[in-house]
Amino acid sequence: MKYYSTNNHKHQVGLSEAVIKGLAPDNGLYMPERIPVLPNDLIEKMSEMSFREIGYAVIGALFSEDLTEKQIHELVDHTLSFDAPIVEVEEDVYSLELFHGPTLAFKDVGARFCSKLMSMLVEDKSKTLRVLVATSGDTGSAVANGFLGVEGVEVIILFPKGKVSKLQEKQFTTLGQNITALEVEGVFDDCQTLVKQAFLDRELNEKLMLTSANSINIARWIPQSLYYFYAFSQLPKTSKKVAFAVPSGNFGNIGAGILAQQMGLPIEQFVAATNVNKVVPEYLNGFPFKAKPSIPTVSNSMDVGNPSNFPRLLALYEGDEKRFRENVKGYFYTDEQTVEAIQAIQPKGYTLDPHGAVGYLGLKDFMAENPGYVGVFLETAHPGKFRDVVEEALGEKLILPERLAAFLEGEKKVIPMGKSFDEFKGFLKGLV
Ligand SMILES: *Cc1c(COP(=O)(O)O)cnc(C)c1O
Repeated sequence: MKYYSTNNHKHQVGLSEAVIKGLAPDNGLYMPERIPVLPNDLIEKMSEMSFREIGYAVIGALFSEDLTEKQIHELVDHTLSFDAPIVEVEEDVYSLELFHGPTLAFKDVGARFCSKLMSMLVEDKSKTLRVLVATSGDTGSAVANGFLGVEGVEVIILFPKGKVSKLQEKQFTTLGQNITALEVEGVFDDCQTLVKQAFLDRELNEKLMLTSANSINIARWIPQSLYYFYAFSQLPKTSKKVAFAVPSGNFGNIGAGILAQQMGLPIEQFVAATNVNKVVPEYLNGFPFKAKPSIPTVSNSMDVGNPSNFPRLLALYEGDEKRFRENVKGYFYTDEQTVEAIQAIQPKGYTLDPHGAVGYLGLKDFMAENPGYVGVFLETAHPGKFRDVVEEALGEKLILPERLAAFLEGEKKVIPMGKSFDEFKGFLKGLV
């Protein structure tokens, strides 16, 4: 399979280059040149298949030209090491729980797939691939845990000192093994600048094999389509149309859902739900796309003013904006509405996290305007990950799942780092 750049359809590369480079040289996002369509009878049979079996079929359709069957199985087994159940919250309204992975958020799926695939694609096994990640929280924990113990790959995480929540920090500073955390005397932008400078530094790139595991990487983006197939297969057989509502920030997750739909999964409608960072809902409601500075909210993993996957969404519709706006409906919600949703659903025996709450609200509004649907909203994180917001909303303490509590007991190990590039470069050169 070739992958083209969303900035230039003629710029095409193979899987290895698309994954290791991450971003095209013209700053475009890579896209598969062809979207394979799965046979209907296979999709129908998925209700009797396990998550992994579904994974082999879907990943096989996309990657079988580039990977052996054995590699595809290894990749899927490593990625889908946890379940993604659907839970009925109200009649015809299901929560797709994507928080059963190691860091309790859906980014675990993409990060696990990406790590294993990178390790497979490094041809020279005597070399170590070094993944540089700047993080303000979530990405660091998903990438660190996804890459933990993966052979031939070392992860270096840069995070701003004192600017990351305690729990998030614990999730990437206590792991050890092939994960190193650098605590940078600065803000998130300083971390990002250091990483960018390293990629541009000729001397470093001659000595070291450097890459990023950015969220726009196809190796993080594509595997997210797996849980749409799996969720659909778990729905009770019905003649009703199916809608998926996705709480969105950079719009990678919903894009993977649209990919699943184009591969033949009969999802009728998507709902893009955001917080007040609402540039995409505005676009979907007929306005031109206009990036804006981000606004802080209680669903902070979606505080994105310039969604990086937007060009990918346009590419999925081949630039046909009318079709895009028909297939995806946009809604946005304030913090107040988000907190009210958490409070309103609790008595039904379900605890939402702030991101899932936004998805739930979008789904409900869509279903009120369009009767006759069965709806699934994506619960993208465990409520315990955002316990401050959820505990305040509910006026009660949450019981943290064991996996999350276990992180809090780990010992933090970091290397202190200034924000000068020379210091960072010296550290990297010291690795060889
Ligand atoms: C990253 C994230 C999102 C947003 O996903 P996108 O793919 O960027 O749209 C939503 N919820 C949670 C909990 C996240 O961590």
